[in-house]
Amino acid sequence: MTQPEFGATPWGRAWVRAVESTAVTRPNPLLPKARSLARNNAVTDLRAETGSVTATVSGHTVHIGLPLWTDVPDGLVADHTGDLPDELADSIDIAVPLADQHTECACRTRNPHCAHVLATLYALSQRVDERPVLAAALRYPLTEPTDPDWIPLTEIGVAGFYGD
Ligand SMILES: [Zn+2]
Repeated sequence: MTQPEFGATPWGRAWVRAVESTAVTRPNPLLPKARSLARNNAVTDLRAETGSVTATVSGHTVHIGLPLWTDVPDGLVADHTGDLPDELADSIDIAVPLADQHTECACRTRNPHCAHVLATLYALSQRVDERPVLAAALRYPLTEPTDPDWIPLTEIGVAGFYGD
């Protein structure tokens, strides 16, 4: 079986599920378009920060605001590669439901989840698949996010990392 294009990890998959919740009751024709935009590198300048994701999609500036966690969920730790423990993915509310996102797009559609916003979220899910700890960094200001060797979050996390 080949790896899925979006959602290769449980953490990226949580984000894909949030995006595709728009298609639960009826097909959302914007989803295939959004996947195509993400697949064909139409999402550029993707910046993912705590509480904020920005990108340019087909020339439209997209901004997505995300609510933050008040604290890091219990047991959530990252290893030095930026991976998170897969078994926690279903118990932690890692992705933000579309209804809780504050979205803005420079295109003219009145749909707050236009193809550009959805494409940005698909591209974001791929970033999360590459480095799952990003999913936590989106929701909580982790320390030293630019250091590739950082061990995030809490002292409990550090203890877990060293094998206690
Ligand atoms: Zn748009």
